[in-house]
Amino acid sequence: MKNREIARLLHEISVLLEVEGKNKFKPRAFARAARSVEALGEDIEAVAARDALTEIPGVGKSIAEQIQEYLATGKMSTLEKLRQRIPVKVEELEAIPGVGPKTIKLLYESLKITDLESLERAINEGHLKGLRGIGPKTITQIAEGIALVRGVMSRTLLSEALPIADAIVEHLKSSAPVTRIDVAGSLRRRKESVGDIDILVLSERPTDVTDAFVSYPDVSDVLLRGDTKTSIRLTNGLQVDLRLLPIESYGAGLQYFTGSKDHNVHLRTIAQRAGMKLNEYGLFKGEELVAGAEESEIYQSLGLQFIPPELREDQGEIEAAKVGRLPSLVELDDIRGDLHMHTDYSDGVNTLEEMVEAAEALGHEYICIADHTKSLTVAKGMDEEQILRRIDEIDDLNSSGRWHVRVLKGAEVDILPDGTLDLEDDVLYQLDVVTVSVHSKMQMGRATMTERIIRAIEHKHVHILGHPTGRKLFKRPAYDVDIEAIFEAARGSGVAMELNAYPERLDLGAGHLRLAKRMGIRIAINTDAHRTSELHNMRFGVFQARRGWLEADDIINTRSLDELFRFLKK
Ligand SMILES: [Zn+2]
Ligand SMILES: [Zn+2]
Repeated sequence: MKNREIARLLHEISVLLEVEGKNKFKPRAFARAARSVEALGEDIEAVAARDALTEIPGVGKSIAEQIQEYLATGKMSTLEKLRQRIPVKVEELEAIPGVGPKTIKLLYESLKITDLESLERAINEGHLKGLRGIGPKTITQIAEGIALVRGVMSRTLLSEALPIADAIVEHLKSSAPVTRIDVAGSLRRRKESVGDIDILVLSERPTDVTDAFVSYPDVSDVLLRGDTKTSIRLTNGLQVDLRLLPIESYGAGLQYFTGSKDHNVHLRTIAQRAGMKLNEYGLFKGEELVAGAEESEIYQSLGLQFIPPELREDQGEIEAAKVGRLPSLVELDDIRGDLHMHTDYSDGVNTLEEMVEAAEALGHEYICIADHTKSLTVAKGMDEEQILRRIDEIDDLNSSGRWHVRVLKGAEVDILPDGTLDLEDDVLYQLDVVTVSVHSKMQMGRATMTERIIRAIEHKHVHILGHPTGRKLFKRPAYDVDIEAIFEAARGSGVAMELNAYPERLDLGAGHLRLAKRMGIRIAINTDAHRTSELHNMRFGVFQARRGWLEADDIINTRSLDELFRFLKK
């Protein structure tokens, strides 16, 4: 689907027009069109094919022509001309938290800043000081943002890297004889983001594999081609390494290239203490190969339980494996439902029925519809009256007998700055699952924010705290909050913490999940889907849960509906 890239280009046009400042309304029109294309549930090429582009809200005749041109030629002439007149790298600058069209315009007009580098230079040389509308606090924020963006540019979200790796694996399997093939590295450990992709292969015809690898359609450069290692760079900038391993060392290579570094260093010391040597070729006693073909044999020969890749961070997993106390990690199949998703009643794309149908196809036993509430006006939050109507609709849907999946009535209720909720108690009381989240005023200081959230979760009708730290990977840090105090309060009032599976949130992180588990807090893994396709993101939540040492028992949506209701009763 080209929806995303087209939305991005339309947005870029709107910002450049704003910077140019000739017309007040045109930038807004393009911005609106960009938002509609982004939110479009259907493939834009299909919309164009049936000549219906102008039916998209905000897309008039001239914007439709731009889209047609792009689909036909890969270019938008309006954008090309604008870029020549105004050489501002919009995407690069907007990646900095807090920098939007207004700031970009100001920076370009007053200091001719066009990209990350010129902005960084201007900050270092003190040129931003005294600019109207940019205080010292903002300058510090921008400087921190630049550092954040620099870090991002070298890493890719797991949710983006995983499908790419899968596609390359499929390509290799279908174009060359491959006996074994695995993705290793931080991708196999399911880290939230990865620096590159490592693919390991065992083949009787290694040259064919390498040929297939360098001729993968998406390659922009071949960085290195050798007998055992070949590296490519993809058009999106991501580097992929292919390693061809011999049969007797395949497991050792898989273990070695999966990492992490700390985990491997610790394993090597254990091998040494046992009078052995461990490297990427195998586990050796003198010259004799003790284990190497299978990864599991290496752990076994070192006297350890097999350690799942998600745990290999040297965070106590080796000690646990030594005494046979590794957790039995949750799996995707353990998940029976999803308790947080949106529909077109608030800022979701699909209707209630479409979400139910998609959840049923996934085999969920139950789902909970949790649309936003009224104070979140940007997301068309619902008021009491709308929620009551929605409750009736869901009751009808459940009693219609059309679906196996049971639809629970819920809401993602806004936590107001003082910690009160923005829905009346008598409406909250009628919901099956009440999730509360912070969506506003995220920088209020540690003590106030902690108090605010604790007050909300101590409300008698609340069941789950949504995306508990508010972080967005590479975009927004967690709000400053005393998470331990929040867990403590949650334990006291029987409230579960959400593990939000949205790929750029993955909130809570692995460390917080372990802390929650130790404190006996229950977790709900939810997709927070805003469209049917996002219901599939549950797997990213499960990966993260595994990195946090969670077992099925720690998670409320692995339970049967009856058991879940028992939990919800508090
Ligand atoms: Zn939310
Ligand atoms: Zn949500």
